[in-house]
Amino acid sequence: MNACPVCGGKKFRFLFDKEGSGRKIFSLYKCAGCALELLRPFPSDAEIDGCYQGDYFTKRTDRGYDDYFSEKVRLEIERVFRLNLRDLDFNDYEKTLEKPFSLDIGCAAGYFVGYMHQRGWNSCGIEVSEPCVDFAKKNNLNVIKGDYLQTEFPYKFDLITMWATIEHLKNPDKFIEKIFHDLKPGGMLIVSTCRRGISFSKLFGKKWRFYNFPEHLCFFNSKNLKRLISERGFSVNKTVTYGSGIGKGRDVKKKIADFFAKRFFLGDMILLSAQKNLVPEELECLQKEGLKEFVVLSPKRN
Ligand SMILES: [Zn+2]
Repeated sequence: MNACPVCGGKKFRFLFDKEGSGRKIFSLYKCAGCALELLRPFPSDAEIDGCYQGDYFTKRTDRGYDDYFSEKVRLEIERVFRLNLRDLDFNDYEKTLEKPFSLDIGCAAGYFVGYMHQRGWNSCGIEVSEPCVDFAKKNNLNVIKGDYLQTEFPYKFDLITMWATIEHLKNPDKFIEKIFHDLKPGGMLIVSTCRRGISFSKLFGKKWRFYNFPEHLCFFNSKNLKRLISERGFSVNKTVTYGSGIGKGRDVKKKIADFFAKRFFLGDMILLSAQKNLVPEELECLQKEGLKEFVVLSPKRN
């Protein structure tokens, strides 16, 4: 059985069983060391791959998206990216860079890749779902099909993002370690994921909107997500939470609940940015080259 990818712990407390796709029952456990919630045992790769094929992105289910490839969905997702980047004060970082490179891991149809291209970035993405990669390529986006952990890139990035991706991973620790390797000195990591801990998620018990098995494998709270990242060479800059899961569409109830979620750090989604710490050799090398501006990029804490 798998150890906890955050703290390496091997003691888990059983939370509940729930039926997932294929009418199969999955069991959720909580790590005694760091409170990460995870499926045990992890589903097989074949089981996981099965749920992203064909209609995951085109049919309305409690798991998938309602026509993910439509222009309406693209615009809505782009609006959320814009808001998220604003909440993270991303502009302050972006304006220090010239012709920067970005990589989006688990980029789905490549909407973030396209959005960053519009912002003047050399943007690319990596994705495991074939229909998504085909769609992105038809739209002339630089998206490759593959497993991030097995992929070598010819250059280092200024920004690596994982939008609602980390909860799908069996080994988020390995991803964060490789991201550290693939970023330039002082480069930025942005992660968003659904959030446990003291959040609106508590109101829904096992019916919480993100308890979708076996697509989602790990459920973080703010503390263990920050731990995962900061213990692997990053300084967390800014953290925001949003979303309540209450109401739908333009419902007033939803507006009020979402407002409280964001204002009082109760959201069931979490968004954070972190900067790669400079390792001593890189710092020395940069100083030799006279690139003093990297000092300006050192993370500010809040
Ligand atoms: Zn743990």
